[in-house]
Amino acid sequence: MQYPQLSINLDTIESNAVNMVKSCKDYGIKPVGVTKLLLGAPELAQAMVAGGIEILGDARLKNLARYQHLPVEKMLIRLPSFSEVDEVVELADISLNSESTVLCALSEAAVKANKQHRVVLMHDLGDLREGCFDESETLWLAELVLSLPNLELIGLGSNLACYGGVAPSAENQNHLVALAEKIESKYDIKLSVISGASSAGLTLMMAKEMPSQVNQLRLGASVIMGIGLNDEPVPHTQQDAIHLHAELIEIKHKPSVPTLSTALDAFGNTPEFVDRGIRCRGLCAIGRQDVDIDQIIPSDSRITVVGGSSDHLILDLTDCEADYQIGSVVTFELGYGGVLQCATSEFVHKSYVRG
Ligand SMILES: *Cc1c(COP(=O)(O)O)cnc(C)c1O
Repeated sequence: MQYPQLSINLDTIESNAVNMVKSCKDYGIKPVGVTKLLLGAPELAQAMVAGGIEILGDARLKNLARYQHLPVEKMLIRLPSFSEVDEVVELADISLNSESTVLCALSEAAVKANKQHRVVLMHDLGDLREGCFDESETLWLAELVLSLPNLELIGLGSNLACYGGVAPSAENQNHLVALAEKIESKYDIKLSVISGASSAGLTLMMAKEMPSQVNQLRLGASVIMGIGLNDEPVPHTQQDAIHLHAELIEIKHKPSVPTLSTALDAFGNTPEFVDRGIRCRGLCAIGRQDVDIDQIIPSDSRITVVGGSSDHLILDLTDCEADYQIGSVVTFELGYGGVLQCATSEFVHKSYVRG
């Protein structure tokens, strides 16, 4: 085994996928499996597909490229960059869009590649990240897409609870549905997709308050970590698919207050200390270059995280000293940001496990 190690249980993720597909089906919703949390790892993508997910989405083309071989539709869930439209058409069947300049370029790229590219227009319901805020602009973009060769307008989408803390509600989802119906009647078309929200929309869905016309949710955190709105556990999912393991490289008894602290710490902060007397401290070979310390919680509740620097994590092992030696492995639970950081750090080994 190599450490630090991010261990990812594919059976747990697959079972979460099965349960989310099933829960969503009861409400006429098909989930898109969002893979960005683990950088589009093919192992994750495969587990989602094995769990019954039929469309995979990622924010980054590089991640989508990692599972091109899988026989499912691929969706680019971050707005395409103007400079990468050729790759978008090559790697994604569907993309989420809000800019006319990019749509025109996408159309040209699709013509050049002799491909059809499907478009979901993003409308901003108030969370203030991507999407047109003005209804008239979304209507105009719909007309534009309908006029552009090799683009197919398949739906309307919205993102919530990412920047502005706006939760998906019956009110904002109905607003999206009403706008979709306006587009349908104005241009005499049928939109096949209303992509309401991310995992944050599951709360509304499970409360039976999601309008029936919303037929797609884009699910990442719920399938991978079993969490949704406000990072709360999602019913019918498990939260323990992912753990971080780090190795102890030093165990020493030391005072809890530094000897004459006058300087800033390695990150320019003034450190503060509480005198708890002499404590048993363990150093782990992982640091803030890999993960923020506030994103990790030791699975052994007798351990507390004292602090860390770029390459070191400092633990208090006083209450469980006898159980840990040099070379012992300490296990941690991670927050969403912690999983993302560990997945991104090239120093953290990824291990995909079953069972
Ligand atoms: C990340 C993302 C999602 C998935 O969000 P989760 O909270 O992981 O379910 C859905 N849609 C968009 C546009 C995203 O950027």
